Amino acid sequence: MAHVGIVGGGVTGLATALSLSKIGFQVTVFESDATPMPVSPEEAFSWNRRGAPQVRHSHALLGRLHNLLRDFHPEVLKMLLDVGATEIDLAQHMPDTLDDLNPHPNDKDLFMIAARRTTFEWVLRQIVMENPDVVIRTGERVTGLITSDDDISEVQGLVFDHGGSEFFDLVIAANGRRSQAPEWCKAIGIDIAEEVEDTGIVYYSRFFRVNEDQELPFSDRLIAGDLGYLKYGVFWGDNRTFSITLATSDKDKTFWGVRDPEIFDQVVREIPAAAEWVTLGADPITQVHSMAGLLNRRRFLSDENGLKIKRFHMIGDALICTNPLYGRGCSTGFWQAHLLTKAIEQSPDDFVVQAEIFAQDIDEHIIPWYQASVDSDRNNREFESGVTGEGSTRKSILQNGLLPATQTSAKVWRAFMRMMNLLAPPKSLNEPEIMADVLEMWEKRDERPIPPPLGPGRDEMIDLLGLKETA
Ligand SMILES: Cc1cc2nc3c(=O)[nH]c(=O)nc-3n(C[C@H](O)[C@H](O)[C@H](O)COP(=O)(O)OP(=O)(O)OC[C@H]3O[C@@H](n4cnc5c(N)ncnc54)[C@H](O)[C@@H]3O)c2cc1C
Repeated sequence: MAHVGIVGGGVTGLATALSLSKIGFQVTVFESDATPMPVSPEEAFSWNRRGAPQVRHSHALLGRLHNLLRDFHPEVLKMLLDVGATEIDLAQHMPDTLDDLNPHPNDKDLFMIAARRTTFEWVLRQIVMENPDVVIRTGERVTGLITSDDDISEVQGLVFDHGGSEFFDLVIAANGRRSQAPEWCKAIGIDIAEEVEDTGIVYYSRFFRVNEDQELPFSDRLIAGDLGYLKYGVFWGDNRTFSITLATSDKDKTFWGVRDPEIFDQVVREIPAAAEWVTLGADPITQVHSMAGLLNRRRFLSDENGLKIKRFHMIGDALICTNPLYGRGCSTGFWQAHLLTKAIEQSPDDFVVQAEIFAQDIDEHIIPWYQASVDSDRNNREFESGVTGEGSTRKSILQNGLLPATQTSAKVWRAFMRMMNLLAPPKSLNEPEIMADVLEMWEKRDERPIPPPLGPGRDEMIDLLGLKETA
C-alpha cells in the first residue's frame, strides 16, 4: 500500500487524508501545532491553533462543501449535526417577494452548514483519527524535502525541525496560506512562480452566544452588506453561537479602532441587519480577533517546459487562496482534496500524468473562483475610488441590478444562490436568461425609491463612534 505524507492538519490536509484513505492509501499527516485533540467542540473553540489563526474568524461553510460531505463523507456530516451544527436549507429562506415560490428539483443542493470553523475542524480530525489507515502526528514541523540523488525534481520524503527525516511515495503540502513549500523547493533549486494580489482589507470577528431561551433570528434577508468604507456579515454557528465580521480597508486607519470590543459592538449596533442579532439577548464569547495581510494568490508547479517537481503536490490555501470575504476557502480546499484524490486514483504510478490531471481540474474548477475573487476586488477598489470604468459599472450592476433582482426573480435568486455556494461557476450569472432580469432591474435603478441605507455613512459613523479621522 503506497504511503503518502501530508504536511498540515487543517481542513484541506484532513480532507485529503480522508479521501485518500478511502481509496486504499496509507497516510501520515504532520501538523506543526503541538496542541492535543480537545475533548469536545466547545473545548476546540479555544484550541491553540497558531498555525491557522483564521480559525478565530467567522467561516461560511458553503453548499459545495455540504454536498461533498453528504455524497462522499456522510459520517462527517452526521457527526457535525450530532454535535450541534445545523444544515441551512436555503429554499426555506426564499424571500416571499419572489415571482415564483414553487420548489425546484435543484433546491436539494441548496444547503449550507452552520458551524464554527473549530467545530468543523474538530469533527473532521475526530473522524480522520478513527481511520486505521491515517496517522496524525502533531507538534512535528516540516522544514524541507528529501529528493532523489539522481533527479533533484523527484521528491522522496520530508525533513523535520527535530532533525529527523522520513520517506514517502508521495508528498502533499497542505500547509495553508503561510506555506513554506516554495522555500523548500527553492532550497533544492526549483522556483515555484506565483501570482499575488493583496485584498487590502483587515478582518475583525467576534463570536456571540444567544441565551438559552432565545431563537436565532433566521431571516430571508442577506445578512451581509457593504457600507462602502466597511463591510459586514453575520454567520450562523453551532450550539446557539453566531459571529459577526467587520472588514475595513487596511489603509483606513480611522477604523483600526474596531479591534476594541466596545467600538466593535457600537458599530454593530449602528447596522440594523447586524444589530438585531446582538440585541436579541446574546453575549459575546470572544474578544475581537483581527487579521490583515490577506492575499489572493495562486502558485504554479509547472511552466511552459512542463512539471518542475514530481511526487509532490501543493493543495488548499498553499496552492490557491482567495479573499476571505467570499467565504470559499474551506469549500474549495475540500473540493481540491477530491480533485487530487481523483487524479491520484486515475494515475497512481505516473506522477507527471497525475500532476497534469490535477492541474487541469484545478484550472477548470478552482481557478474561476480565484479569478472571480481578484476581479471583484478590483471592481470594488475602482468603485470605491470613484473612478468610472468597466469595474465600477460591474459593481453598480451587482448592487443595483443583481442584488435587487434576487428579491423579485426566482430564477435570479436560484442562480445567485447556486453561484455563491460554488454549485455553478461564476460565469453562470452571465447566462442570457439571468442577465435579462438583472439588466432590466439595473436599467430601472433611478425609477425605484432609494432603498433605506444599510447603515450610517462614513462621516456619520465616525461621529457616532467619537473617532478621530486619522490619515
Ligand atoms: C480571516 C479569514 C476568514 C476566512 N473565512 C472563511 C469562510 O468564511 N469560509 C471559508 O470556507 N473559508 C474562509 N477562510 C479561508 C479558510 O480558512 C482557508 O481557506 C482554509 O483554512 C484553508 O485550509 P488549509 O487546510 O488549506 O490551510 P489551513 O487551515 O491554514 O491549515 C494549514 C495547516 O498547516 C499547518 N502547518 C503549516 N506549516 C506547517 C509545517 N511546516 N509543518 C507542519 N504543519 C504545518 C498549520 O499549523 C495549519 O494547521 C478564511 C480565511 C481567513 C484568513
